[in-house]
Formats: sequence, structure tokens, C-alpha cells
Amino acid sequence: MESPNSKIKEDKLDNDMIDMAKGENMIKKSEQKKLIMIKTERNQFAYIYDEKYYYRKERANKNGEIIYRCNKYRDPSRCCSYFTLFNDKVIKANLKHCHEENLKEISRLITKDSIKNRIENNENIFTVKLKRIYEDIKIKNTAPENMPKFEGIKTQLYEKLNKNFPKDVEDINTIDFNSNYFKNLYNEKFLVYHDEELIILQSNIQAKIMYDNSKDIFIDGTFYSAPKAIYLIIIIIIMIIIIRVNIEDTNRLSTTCFALCKNKAELLYKKLLLEINKNINYEINKIFKPTFIHIDFD
Ligand SMILES: [Zn+2]
Repeated sequence: MESPNSKIKEDKLDNDMIDMAKGENMIKKSEQKKLIMIKTERNQFAYIYDEKYYYRKERANKNGEIIYRCNKYRDPSRCCSYFTLFNDKVIKANLKHCHEENLKEISRLITKDSIKNRIENNENIFTVKLKRIYEDIKIKNTAPENMPKFEGIKTQLYEKLNKNFPKDVEDINTIDFNSNYFKNLYNEKFLVYHDEELIILQSNIQAKIMYDNSKDIFIDGTFYSAPKAIYLIIIIIIMIIIIRVNIEDTNRLSTTCFALCKNKAELLYKKLLLEINKNINYEINKIFKPTFIHIDFD
């Protein structure tokens, strides 16, 4: 099963024979390779052995040795399995267990760890699709029947994902308007206008679509995803009517502008429409004159 983190330590564990302190409790290289490292909820390292058993850190000695014990150590079975790491090498171990293996519990740990690694290693946190990552891991898994259901782990995974997002904006003046967040996926300008109470985002393509379909435009607003420093996000949608020969007409909605507003004063709305008009005029040298503006908020 996949666990990218395991690669880090596997290399260090990959010695033919470990220089054992006393020459006893020796484990073979092939056994060591079955130890894969995962991160716990508290960002501690723990290990899975052979995709069957789970070892938690028990203590770190002053001499640098770290002792990991089977998580069933305190159960009635009092499992005695353990291993000792020193400089990332296993120097002592007892990998025998006196209880049933719990494949579902282990699969749950590995699945969550794998998805969290994908979240952390993703270049663009905004494009992470948790369900897609889960399905991808499931396809590659040799025992998918042991995996937890996505619904059962998604809350924890979304919490992890949310922690990786950039901090919420506290003050419009602290926003870096030169950052890449103000460019679209084609690395083109996306920011049209900004001042202390209004930020307008519209790409060149959106400006063109907006002009070409300006008979009906629909404006809606949301508080839900607005950062603390911003009062309201307004989304301007346009209805595009695609006419196909011999095929029935298809209506499609396309988002053509986002605006982040600090208040909902009439003057601000006027400024918004004025700046959109200026942008369309600048980008495609046309005057934007919508026939109907549909709006359902005050
Ligand atoms: Zn055990």
C-alpha cells in the first residue's frame, strides 16, 4: 500500500545487517522493509508493520534510542512486540504478536496517511480533490475491501485540508495584489480593479464572453465564502444561449466576473459596473450595455 513518507526512512533502514548492540533480537533486512512510517494526528511518527500491526512511540532515551511498541501493549493481550530505533536504524526488535491482526484498523491508518501526504505534497492546495485521491488510492490498493469508506474519514481529511489553506485575509490593505492568486491558470491577468472597498476579478476571456452575451446578466452575492475583511462576494453570471443547427437550444450559465465588496452601498455597485465597463472597453474596445440585469438581493 502507498505511503510516501515511508520512503524517507526505508532508505536509512536499508542496510544488509544492522549493527546490533548485543547481536540478539536481530531482524532481517526484508523484515525491516515491512516497517512503514506514518504520521499520527498529533504529527508524531508511528509505524505500520507488514500492513497488519501498528506501533506507537513509547519513549525516547537520553542515549538517542527511540522505542516503539505495538498499540495492543496495554490491551488484555499485553502484546510485547516492540522495536528500538537508533539513528533511524532498527537495533533491537521483537516483531512477534500475540493477538489477531486488525487489517481494517491498519488500512484506515494507512489510507488517511496517504491522503494527508497527497494534500501536503500538492503544489496547488486549491485544486485538491479528496474523493478523487481516495478513489486513486483504492484502485492501487491490493485489499480495497479493508479500506474505510470515504464518508467515514472525510471530516478529518477536510479538517487537514483546511489547515493547509492560506490564512484568512484580516485587512484588505495587507493583500499582495502582485501574487499569483491574481492570475488565471494561463498566467494571465485576472485582477481588474482594487481599492479599499472593492476588488474585481475578471479575465480577458470572461470580459469577451460578458460582452458577447450581454442581453441578460445575472448578479448574485454570497457571504458564505467571503473572508472576514470582506463583506460580500458578488458573482456575475451571464446566460449564454448556444444555438445548434437541428439540435434543440441549450442554455448554459457562465461566470464572468467576481467582485469582493466591503459594503453593499449603491455607490459601490455603481462603481463595480463602471469598472467592469472600463475593463471591457480596455480589453476588447467595446461598450458594455446589458439589456437586462437580473438581481435578487438589495
Ligand atoms: Zn501486537
